[in-house]
Amino acid sequence: KSGNKDVLFKLHTDAAAFYHRILTDSPDGEEARRYMEERDLPMEIIREWQIGYAPQGWEELRSRAKKKGYTDEQLEAAGLVVPSDRNGKKSFYDRFRSRVMFPICDQMGRVIGFSGRIMNKAEKTAKYVNSPETLLFKKNRVLFGFDKARKPIVESRQAIVVEGQIDAIRCHQAGLDNVVASQGTALTDNHAKMIKRYADEVVLVLDADAAGVKAALASSEIFIANELSVRVVTLPEKEDPDSLIKNSGRDVLIKLVEEAPGALDFLIDAFQRSENIKTEAGRMRVVKAVLNLISHCPSAARRDPMIRGASDRLNISPLALNQDLGRIKPQQR
Ligand code: ATP
Ligand code: MN
Ligand code: MN
Ligand code: MN
Repeated sequence: KSGNKDVLFKLHTDAAAFYHRILTDSPDGEEARRYMEERDLPMEIIREWQIGYAPQGWEELRSRAKKKGYTDEQLEAAGLVVPSDRNGKKSFYDRFRSRVMFPICDQMGRVIGFSGRIMNKAEKTAKYVNSPETLLFKKNRVLFGFDKARKPIVESRQAIVVEGQIDAIRCHQAGLDNVVASQGTALTDNHAKMIKRYADEVVLVLDADAAGVKAALASSEIFIANELSVRVVTLPEKEDPDSLIKNSGRDVLIKLVEEAPGALDFLIDAFQRSENIKTEAGRMRVVKAVLNLISHCPSAARRDPMIRGASDRLNISPLALNQDLGRIKPQQR
């Protein structure tokens, strides 16, 4: 019964309301309210996304929930408390303490987990703590903001994928509302299938660092394998969508999205920056990467323009590319 989904949904709803009330109304939320103001996240946004604050005590949520009749087993199954062994006696404490709380919702808008951010940079714990995998929360099946973005995604047949929760929230605030966040995890086949139900195209907006490029290429393969068109935005150094919108305005981001190159050109660009494409060996490494990307695409009609694009840029005949393509198996990154 501790694994009963209905109870877990109810518990998450109550927990989100508890955290939210502290951020909006309680004296315990004073510091967090100042933090939200510094981050330019006004009360209107706090309400819309039901953002909250987990107070600093060890049993704030736990004692509240127990008074409402929930058991430790249910709280643990929800990932909201963590077991501890105190002198051989099993006890539980709140997983989320002194953190700004972002509820994570399923496609229907039901809260299924949380991501909590520390406010103080000096603290040496992780910047974000997320719910663990539970009966409700499977991180390879959830995209932050999908419940709010679904309709705009259907209408535009396009999904924009950013990294962070605050990035997604900022985009929606700026009127870019077909945006979801991967929450820093690698995109999976499940994510691609979720998006493919509603969209024809994905635009990846990832950090400009090496990790961002790697993630973009790995994600591109997965989306291409699911017959989605993929384009990739490279952000200016040290910017994410949140900071870019705040510093430069949303039109700059919209332009980057509109002009983003396809995954294949993004890959060739990335190689040209890091490889000497003039040498035989360098060129062959690009060719290999290009062919690998194309090999993930199940449709010949979709592969054809990719091959012609690669042919133009690499100065290799489509025939030669096609012949080599026939010899390779798709490699997972
Ligand atoms: P902020 O603007 O508040 O610093 P961010 O979204 O820009 O947050 P990043 O450091 O760019 O944070 O990380 C991108 C995303 O990766 C985060 O939004 C979060 O979902 C996830 N993430 C970051 N750090 C961690 C961590 N230590 N543990 C788990 N997930 C993390
Ligand atoms: Mn990064
Ligand atoms: Mn950020
Ligand atoms: Mn960031």
